[in-house]
Parts: sequence; structure tokens; C-alpha cells
Amino acid sequence: MTAQPDQDLLRVEALEAVYGGGVRALSGVDLSVRAGEILALAGSNGAGKTTLLRAVSNLLPATGGRITAGRVVYAGRDVARTRTDVLVRLGLVGVLEGRHCFRSLSIAENLLAGGLGRGSRPAELRADLDRVYALFPRLAQKRALPAGLVSGGEQQMAAIGRALMGRPRLLVLDEPSMGLAPRITEEIYRILVGLNRSEGLTLLVAEQNVALALRHAHRCVVLETGRSVLEGPADVLRARDDIRAVYLGLGPSCAAVDRVVVPA
Ligand code: ATP
Repeated sequence: MTAQPDQDLLRVEALEAVYGGGVRALSGVDLSVRAGEILALAGSNGAGKTTLLRAVSNLLPATGGRITAGRVVYAGRDVARTRTDVLVRLGLVGVLEGRHCFRSLSIAENLLAGGLGRGSRPAELRADLDRVYALFPRLAQKRALPAGLVSGGEQQMAAIGRALMGRPRLLVLDEPSMGLAPRITEEIYRILVGLNRSEGLTLLVAEQNVALALRHAHRCVVLETGRSVLEGPADVLRARDDIRAVYLGLGPSCAAVDRVVVPA
């Protein structure tokens, strides 16, 4: 079941999803995340990024949504049939919308909570905590403060640090840049890209900011109104004039594209 480099760690196949009374949020989305890569999921407000990440983490039912067709496969398992705590133990760990720190708990307690989920022993917890502090020195400085009193950037770092305490193979992040100053966003991406390079950590990152996504990811999938309309290697997409015009605002705007898969 262990994925080899370049094998798909996650596959989303012809996925359709709706909420409650029938709001269709995803229509026939296909994508794969290869072991060891950073895949960015880009798209504007309401494109379906969060819905896709919820489906990937089997959290759709908890938010009033459901899969109506297709499936998500992680490390050979059908995600919709696998409990979220089992997914976490298998290394699929999410940092979903809104940072979700326990505001009255200290930064250290927030981080430790991430290790408890996978049943780590005390010595492992200590080692993992030291590793997170080495990655995020700001968290080490503020370890004793309640999470509710630190800055938005530090809360985002704490949420990512907590996920890292779960020793992920695939880290799923929903708009880590949301509401943060560019300098803090860059600091966070530098650390994530560093983990990808040094440890081969696989990342699936939703980003509204396509330029940011294309700068840091290996590949990018763009969603529009619940459909995947564009997919390709980030460096190739970055160099294309039409992509720069439509998604980066660098040149004349043109009509929305049909689904385009750009080869490497
Ligand atoms: P954003 O960047 O604003 O978070 P997004 O790309 O993540 O956008 P989603 O949040 O997945 O998009 O939303 C896709 C569609 O599903 C939208 O029409 C949204 O209104 C709807 N939606 C999302 N969550 C729910 C929910 N819990 N109940 C009903 N509809 C929802």
C-alpha cells in the first residue's frame, strides 16, 4: 500500500458533490496527487475548492454535503468508506478552513493535540514538538500563550504545526494564505516547500491566489464553478500568455477556457 515516488497517493475520479437541498458544488472533477509533489488547487470564491478538500478528507457529511457520483481514493482506500480518524492514522491530515485553533489552550497544547490523534507516545510527542518549534521559531517563542491571543499568521502556523504533529504523508491545506500579510504567507510557503524538498511531504493546497499557487506548486488544477478547467505543470502554465492573461491579470482578458490539460 506504500506509494512509490511518482505514483498517485490520491486520486479523485469523476467526483460530483452536492449540499443539502441540492446545491451542486462539484461536477465531474478528476485529479491526482502524486507521492512527493505539491499540487495546487486554484480557483476563485465558490469554485469548489473547499468542497473538494472536504471530500478528500471525508468531511463532507459533517458540513451537510455528500458525494453523488465518482470517488476519492487515498493510498488505495475509498475515502468515503474510511473514518476520518483512520485516514489521519494513514497519514492524510488536513488544515481546513479558518485555522481552527483551540483559542483558550496554549500554543503548546494545540500542537500536542495533533499528536494525540495518531496515538503517539510521550517521547515521540516531545520529539515531534521540538521539530515543529525548529520549523516555526515563532511558535517556540509563544508556546505558553493562549492561541486566541497570537496573530493570525501564528494561528495558521499553529494549525499547520498541529497537522505536522500527526506525521502526515499527505498534508491537505485550505487557503493557508487567507487574510495574511504577503510576508507571512511567503514564510509559511517557504516552510511547506522546504518540508516537501527535505522529507518528500506530499501537499494538496487550495489557493484563491493563482499566482501564489503557480509560484510554489509543481502542478496546478484550476476549478471554476465546480469543474476542473485547467491542469498542468506550474512552470509551463506560468509561462503561457493566455494563462497569464486570464488568471494572473497580466495582459488582455479573454473568455473562460474549456478544460485544458497542459502536458509537461
Ligand atoms: P471559497 O474560496 O469562497 O471558500 P471555494 O472554492 O472553497 O470558495 P466552496 O466553499 O467549495 O468553494 O463552495 C462551492 C459551492 O458550494 C458554493 O456555491 C458554496 O456556496 C456552496 N457551499 C459550500 N459549503 C456549503 C454548505 N456547507 N452548505 C451549502 N452550500 C455550500
